Amino acid sequence: MYLTLHDTLIRAKRRLEPLDPARVRMYVCGPTVYDFAHIGNARPVIVFDLLFRLLNYVYGADRVVYVRNITDVDDKINARAAEEYPGIPLNEAIRRVTEITDRQFHRDVAALGCLPPTVEPRATEHVAEMKQLIEDLVVEGNAYVAQDHVLFAVGSMPDYGKLSKRSLDEMMAGARVDVAPYKRDPMDFVLWKPSKPGEPSWPSPAGIVAPGRPGWHIECSAMAWKHLGKTFDIHGGGIDLVFPHHENEIAQSRCAFHTPQMASIWMHNGFLQVEGDKMSKSLGNFVTIRDLLKEWPGDVLRFQMLMTQYRQPIDWTKIATEQAATALDAFQQVTKTTEGRDGRISSAVLQALADDLNTPLAIAELHRLAGEARKGDFYAACDLKSTLRFLGFSVDGDGLQDFLKRRHPDLDEAKIQALVDARAQARASKNFAESDRIRDELAAIGVVLKDSKDGTTWEIAR
Ligand SMILES: [Zn+2]
Repeated sequence: MYLTLHDTLIRAKRRLEPLDPARVRMYVCGPTVYDFAHIGNARPVIVFDLLFRLLNYVYGADRVVYVRNITDVDDKINARAAEEYPGIPLNEAIRRVTEITDRQFHRDVAALGCLPPTVEPRATEHVAEMKQLIEDLVVEGNAYVAQDHVLFAVGSMPDYGKLSKRSLDEMMAGARVDVAPYKRDPMDFVLWKPSKPGEPSWPSPAGIVAPGRPGWHIECSAMAWKHLGKTFDIHGGGIDLVFPHHENEIAQSRCAFHTPQMASIWMHNGFLQVEGDKMSKSLGNFVTIRDLLKEWPGDVLRFQMLMTQYRQPIDWTKIATEQAATALDAFQQVTKTTEGRDGRISSAVLQALADDLNTPLAIAELHRLAGEARKGDFYAACDLKSTLRFLGFSVDGDGLQDFLKRRHPDLDEAKIQALVDARAQARASKNFAESDRIRDELAAIGVVLKDSKDGTTWEIAR
């Protein structure tokens, strides 16, 4: 089995051919830890978690290295720290902001069914590697010093702009908006900059400028190098990172290492908007993962995210969340019939995912399996269960029933059980009119009965 993935560099799908099949390597840009992650931030985490699971399946979990970084040095972090903790030293305030945000992020993504990556490097622990890269770029003539900054000279790289396919004019027009006076070329970007008083700072690369801190782009080049090597197989992130972030990562790594590529395949997930609008704090539709998790199980949110193929834009709506919950609950009702048995991961689902993570097709296959299972195919139920587990959903326990009970707090379990017992009595005395009446009464309040040889159970329908 091989994977075919869409590569932004060639704007087409290509077969994944690992540079070293014994060590399949993937890097994904992780969060900047200054604020609660919103549902848009969850998209790459879920998408690349799914790819990680698929790579583990195809190549063996011990042969896959998945690196997702944590950006813990950034202007936004500094600003947030100063705003939240005005009375304490900035470095201490930054530590608090990054620790709290980092902890919440990990809680959030674990609840969304995401496995921890193989390595989760932090920017502040890789300043030495960043400095090394910057020194090399200066020596090679790809970077220069100006007014206590070190800048990458975009003109020194003939094919700069290949990933985003932006023309030089377009990039110039974008860059000209606010051109710093020390830039030789408006498109040149910062590798190192001076810190303001009180901000975190490190001695500069080779002492060439004043103490300061690295720019954002260089951190990913440094962490990818440290944990994956000079070149690797897959680099992922949101589509908003193509330019300038990924373009600049490529420029730094390729020029520093004299390599024809940084990663073989560049994958980007599409945008996410909420109820038809771009998410923004000013519109009041800024939806954090934490808030959604107060209302919905993580499995439902994960399922909703995968209902759309990762490259397509998602409109995140409440209606779609309801649909995801309905579908997932139906699957989990089926998996409860497996009596603890496992099946095989559906090969049709694997094939769908191997074709550029075609999750809508994979979900269609789950529905087909569930249909077979409901018609009495025990093995289909077992396969459905194992496939759901492979996709990162919980299949043990009572599924969504506990959650549904919470959403219907008016349901009185004792009263329902009394009615269920009364119906059993009516059936035992062959009073079918009465037993049907009770069944209808329960259905009217959303309770569905299931009769089997072992008696009657009930569950809440949506
Ligand atoms: Zn990055």
